[in-house]
Amino acid sequence: MVMLHPTYVANGSTGYRPPPRTREVVINGQTVKLKYCFTCKIFRPPRASHCSLCDNCVERFDHHCPWVGNCVGRRNYRFFYMFILSLSFLTIFIFAFVITHIILRSHQDGFLNALKDSPARYPLAKL
Ligand SMILES: [Zn+2]
Ligand SMILES: [Zn+2]
Repeated sequence: MVMLHPTYVANGSTGYRPPPRTREVVINGQTVKLKYCFTCKIFRPPRASHCSLCDNCVERFDHHCPWVGNCVGRRNYRFFYMFILSLSFLTIFIFAFVITHIILRSHQDGFLNALKDSPARYPLAKL
């Protein structure tokens, strides 16, 4: 039988965080301190971080993206970057055509009427 330390018993072993366990490793002549992840039971590689939402360690962790719904790290960083880049192009594209649409409509019946009739108008503007 395993005897538990009193701090484990005191709060039902839920809120207790054990002291950080580290290991020193030499990478390219540099001493790097690796932290132990008690959830994944590994010594985390450099620049890795544990994501509490995904419940695992992520190498070259950037952030947990709530819009995409998962972490951005080593395996998907380039795809996330391409996603952001293409999304910016789409935004510029839409914005340019909205401006073009309003300018062309302004030639017909004035700027204010073009704003009133455009699909993005404030819903009550037509009342
Ligand atoms: Zn972890
Ligand atoms: Zn995550």
